[in-house]
Amino acid sequence: MNYRHAFHAGNFADVLKHAVLALVIEHLKLKPKPFRVIDTHAGIGRYRLDGPEALRTSEWRDGIGRLIGPAAAPLPADVAALLAPYLETIRKLNPDGDLAIYPGSPLLALSLMRADDRLVAAELHPEDSAELARLIGRDPRARIFERDGWQVLKASLPPRERRGIVLIDPPYEVAGESARLAQALREGLKRFATGTYLLWFPLKDRGALGELQQAIASIAIERVLWVELAVGAPKDKPGALSGSGLAILNPPYRLAEQLNVLLPFLAERLSRGEQTSWSVRDPRLGAQGNAHSEASDSHA
Ligand code: SAM
Repeated sequence: MNYRHAFHAGNFADVLKHAVLALVIEHLKLKPKPFRVIDTHAGIGRYRLDGPEALRTSEWRDGIGRLIGPAAAPLPADVAALLAPYLETIRKLNPDGDLAIYPGSPLLALSLMRADDRLVAAELHPEDSAELARLIGRDPRARIFERDGWQVLKASLPPRERRGIVLIDPPYEVAGESARLAQALREGLKRFATGTYLLWFPLKDRGALGELQQAIASIAIERVLWVELAVGAPKDKPGALSGSGLAILNPPYRLAEQLNVLLPFLAERLSRGEQTSWSVRDPRLGAQGNAHSEASDSHA
């Protein structure tokens, strides 16, 4: 396990993933019944943007740094309303206005959850898991496992609450991660058919992506959203990750509508040059399934 999220925390991919996670949690909070968040690849939960890893890459400057903080332009009102829960969490972690701390998915989830909602977080890396436990281990709503996230997922479904989100955010370091993901989804849906599943993927290996898309397309489920955001490669790092996406199974009602407001804004604001594009669609319906899809060469 070589992947260290501290180098990438707060980058454009985190912004998309965490903004959508926050939106899904806010949808769940519309009903008083408690829910559960299962985070299969949780990371350390809190990242220093002025720490050595973040300083080496500075990826956050072209991500969260373009949305809040001293260098960020104001947000349009409709986007500000959609991003409010996500950005409020970050503002609370940075009370003096500078952007020095960024929340990982388990901390973001906990900060939005209510007293009766529950979090299960798996992190296999022993040091990272210990760090996460130091951060949130005393919160009675959270259970942290230093274990394989795929196994924890299996053991956690269905959650007692019968409502919730499964966030699957693997590092894609090992061959066959997409196939494993599709398998975990198939098994997960058998145990917890009504849960919302949020899967992150990099826009990198088109072959693996095609396989994942096909696997999801073959899953018998009523609603799926496939969201992609490409922001172009930075000029000084041509091989760097330039896009990422989310597959959302059982998306909450109205999420597609919200994403059709959020994605064009993120594409414009987070663009690093050419080949910026975004899409929100249902992969099972081919071209007909486009809620929206657009490519542009806009510069931020
Ligand atoms: N979800 C986090 C967030 O949004 O803040 C970031 C997670 S990072 C992309 C992936 C994490 O998965 C790393 O911290 C890595 O150590 C961990 N990991 C790798 N293989 C794992 C496995 N089989 N089970 C659980 N965690 C794993």
